[in-house]
Amino acid sequence: MMNTDCPISYREAARRCSDALRTAGVPEAELDAERLLWHVCDMTPAMWLMRREEPIPEAEWEAYLALVMRRLERVPLQQLTGEQEFMGLPFRVTPDVLIPRQDTEHLVEEALACCEGRRVLDMCTGSGCIAISIARLGKPAAVTGADISEAALAVARDNAERLGADVAWLKSDMFAEVTGEYDVIVSNPPYIPPEQLAGLEPEVRDHEPRLALYGGEDGLAFYRVLTTEGAKHLRPAQDGREGGILIVEIGFDQGVSVPALFREAGFSEVRVKKDYAGLDRVVIGHL
Ligand code: GLN
Repeated sequence: MMNTDCPISYREAARRCSDALRTAGVPEAELDAERLLWHVCDMTPAMWLMRREEPIPEAEWEAYLALVMRRLERVPLQQLTGEQEFMGLPFRVTPDVLIPRQDTEHLVEEALACCEGRRVLDMCTGSGCIAISIARLGKPAAVTGADISEAALAVARDNAERLGADVAWLKSDMFAEVTGEYDVIVSNPPYIPPEQLAGLEPEVRDHEPRLALYGGEDGLAFYRVLTTEGAKHLRPAQDGREGGILIVEIGFDQGVSVPALFREAGFSEVRVKKDYAGLDRVVIGHL
């Protein structure tokens, strides 16, 4: 058991907590121990370097221990600090939204390449990280973020306000409440099939919203709706002008099944983009 007596230095506090996390098998124990300490004590990395030999005040040590206990229960670091960076922007996260993943930056890059002057819809927006990044880093005509979860939309609205992004928010079960026509639809929908749920990291499996993860019986339920209903809300190809674009994130093993759904729904020029790990990650198609 960890010695919790005070007074000790900030550095010693971090060391004890890092040891406790490592012993319990928490990945990146040292990094997380430091991040949580900085969060509790409101420290920047520079302050940490200057002040780490100073004694930690008892109230801070207690608050720090409480957070480390939560991390030992595999609550994700980002839910404890309340923040995750995405596309270089700081997003607020709560247990109501999927924590933004670096993998999803590939999806945003594809959207940024084609969104100038276009009307963009982000379906299943969650924290709003995709919609807000497009609004902030691109030059779209307009961006709408839709989600079935009111709690997620509250987080998205808050993020947009903090980051000064102009996004319209819509509560909708997929396309049920969507009325407009868009040039680009982007989505990182739930795509985990049932047999993969149990094998997810405990942070994801036990603490992130199941609503944002579970993709139905075969993991493809949301892609069926995105391709068929999405096509009805995308600008059709007309008089030589190309039609709207659908861009979705996919799971590592969906690089054949999802493009097939795109083609079945009438999309052409369907291509798959890999992530930095070399795994199929994004599917893009034109109407
Ligand atoms: N990429 C996420 C994971 O690995 C899943 C995200 C999703 O279902 N859209 O947990």
